Amino acid sequence: MTVDSHTVLYSVIGDPIRHSKSPIMMNRAFRECNINGVYTAFHIKGENLAAFVAGVRAMGIRGVNVTIPHKLAIMPLLDEIDESAQMIGAVNTIVNNDGRLTGYNTDGLGYVRSLKEEAEPDLRGKRILIIGSGGAARGIVYALTKEGAGSIVIANRTVERAKQLAQAFSGLLPIHAIAHSELKAACAEADIVINTTSVGMFPHVEETPVDARWLRQGAIASDLIYNPLTTKFLEEARENGCRIHGGLGMFIYQGAYAFEYWTGAPAPVKAMREVVLQALKG
Ligand code: NAP
Repeated sequence: MTVDSHTVLYSVIGDPIRHSKSPIMMNRAFRECNINGVYTAFHIKGENLAAFVAGVRAMGIRGVNVTIPHKLAIMPLLDEIDESAQMIGAVNTIVNNDGRLTGYNTDGLGYVRSLKEEAEPDLRGKRILIIGSGGAARGIVYALTKEGAGSIVIANRTVERAKQLAQAFSGLLPIHAIAHSELKAACAEADIVINTTSVGMFPHVEETPVDARWLRQGAIASDLIYNPLTTKFLEEARENGCRIHGGLGMFIYQGAYAFEYWTGAPAPVKAMREVVLQALKG
C-alpha cells in the first residue's frame, strides 16, 4: 500500500505508549482490507490532551484509540458520548465524523465477543464471578448486561469499589458484591470466573488471584491478562479440569470493534491476531 494524498490517519494515544501493539495490529488490518489508512502511536501528556483533540478536528484524523491515563479526561473534550462509554465512565475509541467527535468504549464488548467466540457462545443464564472492580471490570459488566447473564458476583480487594460497581448496574441484572473472604464459596458456584485484576501479569507470573482448585470442573476460567498468554491462574484451572480463556482475544476484539466503527468493514480478526501473536512472541 502506498501512502498518498488520500491516506486517512488513525492513532492511539497514551502516556506511556511505546509498548502498544495497536499500531501493528491496525496497520495489518488496513492492509488486509485494502483500506488507504495509516495508524500511528502518539505519546500525549495530560497537559497536551486538549491540543491533541483540536488537532484531531483540524487534521481530520478519522479515528483514535485512547489508553491509560486519558480514558476519563478525554470525555469532556468530545461532542458526544455513546451509551457504552457513558455507562462505563470511560472512552477508549473516538470516531471523527466531519469534525464531530463521538466517544465509545469497546473494551467490555471486545471481551464478551472474545469469550463467546473462544469459550462459551451462549452466556444466557450463566452465573459469573468477576474478581476486581477497575475500569476493565466495569466494561465487562456493561457488556454482560446485553447478554442475558443469569447473575454477576463481584469480589474486590477493596470491597467498597465492588459495592459501587454492583450498585451502578443493579437495575439491569442480578448483581451483588462480596468480600474476598467469600471467594471460595463464590468460585464453587460460578459457571465463569473472570480475573480482571493485574495479579499474575508479567513480571509477577507466579501470583494467582484465587486458588484454581476452588473452581468447579468444567467451569470457565478467564483472565484479561495476555502477558503471559496463559497465566498461572489459567494453567492451574486447566489442570483442575476447567476450560480456559486468555486475554489476547479481548485486545484483538476491542480493536476489531474500533476498526468496524471507523471503516464500516468487518475487521480481519484472524490477521490481526496473527500479527499481535508474532509481536508478543518476537
Ligand atoms: P484498574 O482500573 O487499575 O483496576 C485494577 C483492579 O485490580 C482493581 O480492582 C484492583 O483492586 C485490583 N488489584 C490490583 N492489584 C491487586 C492485588 N495485588 N491484589 C488484588 N487485587 C488487585 O485496571 P483495569 O484497567 O481495570 O485493568 C485490569 C487488568 O485488566 C490489567 O491487568 C490490564 O492489563 C487488563 N486489561 C486487559 C485488556 C485486554 O485487552 N486484554 C484490556 C484492559 C485491561 P483495588 O480496587 O483494591 O485496588
